[in-house]
Amino acid sequence: MRIVGRSAWSARPPKSRREIPTPTARLWVHHSASEWHGPLGVRQTQAFHMDTRGWSDIAYSFLVDDDGTVYEGRGAGVAGSHTAGDNSSSHAICAMGNFDMRRPPRALVESIARLAANGRAQGWWGEITGGHRDAKDAQTACPGRHLYAAIPDIRALTTTSNEGDDMTPQQDEWLGRIHHELVAEQESVRELVAQSAYRTAVLEQKVDRLIAAVEGR
Ligand SMILES: [Zn+2]
Repeated sequence: MRIVGRSAWSARPPKSRREIPTPTARLWVHHSASEWHGPLGVRQTQAFHMDTRGWSDIAYSFLVDDDGTVYEGRGAGVAGSHTAGDNSSSHAICAMGNFDMRRPPRALVESIARLAANGRAQGWWGEITGGHRDAKDAQTACPGRHLYAAIPDIRALTTTSNEGDDMTPQQDEWLGRIHHELVAEQESVRELVAQSAYRTAVLEQKVDRLIAAVEGR
């Protein structure tokens, strides 16, 4: 399956990174609870987790969007910040959206199942353990009532999912390139705006001097 790698969504480097043994005993399903989508949404989530929450990186192992696109979070075999008390012995798949408010689209449900099945085949984890709210001492509505209700469905789909997928995250693809091009473009526009502001100011001074000269006559 196509996994959008970290460089393809222009991830910031983690502040720190700790590897954990695989397969992990547990695999949790989360939702982001935001409605941030696409590569920009993944970057917003990462910024929120690193800058506001103070975590070392985006919380989750993988993220899945409404259209089924899978994004590499911390990836497999790396400790996360997703499930208090279980971050060294589990992985987390996060559905991007608020599934207390709406139902998960079919493409999202199928993609989570395929990711779970193929990750199991890779030796990253076993079966889906449950939703975040099922974790020990968890006090959260995560992954939202509608996605929570879909977990039996997702589990059933993992048994019929194809397990022969290439699970290598795809790096430096067009998404990353376009992002870098846009950032460069934005820089040059800023430069132009600054230059024209300077030239406008110079011109205004000249006009002022001219008006003063004319009025002084
Ligand atoms: Zn959660």
